Amino acid sequence: MARKRRIGISTTIPLEPLLAASAVPVDLNNRFIGSENPIQLIEEAQVRGFPRNICTWIKGLYSASADVDLVIGVVRGDCSNTQSLLETLESEGRPVHPFSYPYDRSREAIVDEIEGLCGLLGCTMDEAEQASGRLQELRNIALSIDERRWRELSVSAEDCHLALVSTSDLCSDAEGWEGRMSSILEKNKDTSSQDEGVRLGYIGVPPIITDIFPRIEGSGARTVLFEVQRQFAMPSKRGDWIGRYLDYTYPYDISGRVEDIRTEVKRRRIDGLLHYVQSFCHRQIDDIIFRRELDVPILTLEGNLPGPMDERTLIRLESFIDVLEEGG
Ligand code: SF4
Repeated sequence: MARKRRIGISTTIPLEPLLAASAVPVDLNNRFIGSENPIQLIEEAQVRGFPRNICTWIKGLYSASADVDLVIGVVRGDCSNTQSLLETLESEGRPVHPFSYPYDRSREAIVDEIEGLCGLLGCTMDEAEQASGRLQELRNIALSIDERRWRELSVSAEDCHLALVSTSDLCSDAEGWEGRMSSILEKNKDTSSQDEGVRLGYIGVPPIITDIFPRIEGSGARTVLFEVQRQFAMPSKRGDWIGRYLDYTYPYDISGRVEDIRTEVKRRRIDGLLHYVQSFCHRQIDDIIFRRELDVPILTLEGNLPGPMDERTLIRLESFIDVLEEGG
């Protein structure tokens, strides 16, 4: 049997063309943060010339892409650094392909982008559409874990985060991933709900702080919203498979994210938000808008290198939770 192509992706993209073309998606973020030694991957990128004051994820992505056959990078709607990453890889002779979520959020433009993926990988739009049903079925499993988390607290925050964040590439093995999700659900089937505590929502890019969710739990609060991770699972039920990539809030203007967060804060009875920001990331600027537009207390936490939460951040987190416990 021919070896399947391994396609590195810089963030969530329409996966249907990859599945239809029997290619294996590899989310380079998950690969980087899940590697045995992520710090070493950062150092490797710095040795190759990546600056110290550039976001750590980009450096991790560069090193984590070493053995994939092609890198598809989202150059509009996620991170402008990705363009430089692709250009660097291309200059080293690596095959790359830019993908853009259209600025105007138009159906026509995203269809063009998805057709570009189909052409690149060697499948048709019809074949991609056929793969969409199965894909959404899998994503819905992660969304049902999310539902179990916020409604019953019967799934741990860490498991919920991992289920949602891994929908970007289904851990490069859809069947194995489905089995893992079943184990999460099975493991928690008879678990009685945890005690209610302060209910927190996590917004912003996925964390580089590796123990953030257990730390929050350990401080007596419950994380019941994982904003961007949940968006990776395409929660919108309106429209067809193309429409889901237009309803996906993360790559478009921030007003859609604000609206989604507002709705979920109310629905999930959230007391406060943690806005996670990455050092040297342009998305730190979003904090201004979130604070202006969201009528709920917000603590902004910043991370730089992968690893456990530092003491200073933990003290800030605990103080925030104390204030919320006292009624804000
Ligand atoms: S954290 Fe920010 S700067 Fe870093 S890769 Fe993500 S979007 Fe880009």
